[in-house]
This record gives sequence, C-alpha cells and structure tokens, in this order.
Amino acid sequence: MEKKYKILLVDDDADSRGIYAEVFKTSGFSVIEAVDGLDGINKAIANVPDVIFTGIIMPKMDGFGLKDALSKNVATSNIPVVMSSHMGREEDRKKADDAGVKDFFVAGMITPKEVVARVLNLFSLVKYKLKLNINAGDISRLTRELKLKDDFSCPECGEDLVLNIEMTNKERKEFTGRIICPRCDSGQTE
Ligand SMILES: [Zn+2]
Repeated sequence: MEKKYKILLVDDDADSRGIYAEVFKTSGFSVIEAVDGLDGINKAIANVPDVIFTGIIMPKMDGFGLKDALSKNVATSNIPVVMSSHMGREEDRKKADDAGVKDFFVAGMITPKEVVARVLNLFSLVKYKLKLNINAGDISRLTRELKLKDDFSCPECGEDLVLNIEMTNKERKEFTGRIICPRCDSGQTE
C-alpha cells in the first residue's frame, strides 16, 4: 500500500473495536477509535480520516445519526462510510444504501480481513477513458439521442469525445459512465 490510509473506527464494543483496530493496523492503516456516534463525529471533524467504519447501535448517537451528521458537515461530507451490523437486518441495509453508505457488512458473516479488503477496494475504484468507434454498435443512435455531432466530436474544440467510466463495484463489474471531451473535460450528458 503506497499511501497510509487513515481509518476512523466507531464502535461502542471495545472488544470488536480492538479486533478491527489490530487488523487495520496490520494492513498498514493508521487507526483512530471512537466509542459512539457523538465521539465519532467529533473525531471525524478533528482528524478528517480517509474512511469511516461504524457500527449501528450505539449510545448517544447511532451509526445512522453519525452518517447524517457527517453529511451535514462540509469537512466530512465526502468521507466514505462503511457500516457493520450485528443484527443483519435487511431494513438496515436498505437504510444504509439510502443514506449513501458505501458498503454494509454483517458481523459474523465476514472476517475482519475480508472487511479490510472491501475497504481497500473503495480506494481502488478506477477511472477509465474509452475511445469509441463511431461506426460501431449504437454510437450513431447515441449521438442522435444526446444531440451530439454525427462524428462524435466535441462541439467546442472538435476533439473526439470519449466515454469516461468509473468502476463502482469490482466483483459485479459495475461502472458509471459519462461522455466527456478529453480536452475540455466538458460533460456532454449526465
Ligand atoms: Zn472539447
């Protein structure tokens, strides 16, 4: 690992927090610990970690309250949050998804080492720029639908447009894509 990532572990259970602290440290992370959501938000603002790993049920402020508080603070709103559930309730997974939580683990269903791998995966989501063959596939239909020029060139500078894709899930081979001009970097569509 080139960069030393800083992780904030938020869990009221000292034993489970200790286990994760050990595993993340062994994997090269620098670890900050917080005992509940309130302690978590304070330490997130003070330390601005690269990622936050939180439990759900905690005194003072739970994991969802923490995620909400992080989102409302400009300094912390972009920090990826992953959540660990002891109960494994489907409604919590749905709620986490809706709140923008990046990954959701059910304790006991995944080893701490696998959790580390999944967290590292968050940092390795890669961007690719693909040059498209304007004669291939549905490109001509795409240019019509998006009201682009027939030769798939940038209306500003004439450079060939590219499809910029960003991996969102490596296992499921999922990407999000956007057509851009590599020179102007002006987005042609959402
Ligand atoms: Zn351009």
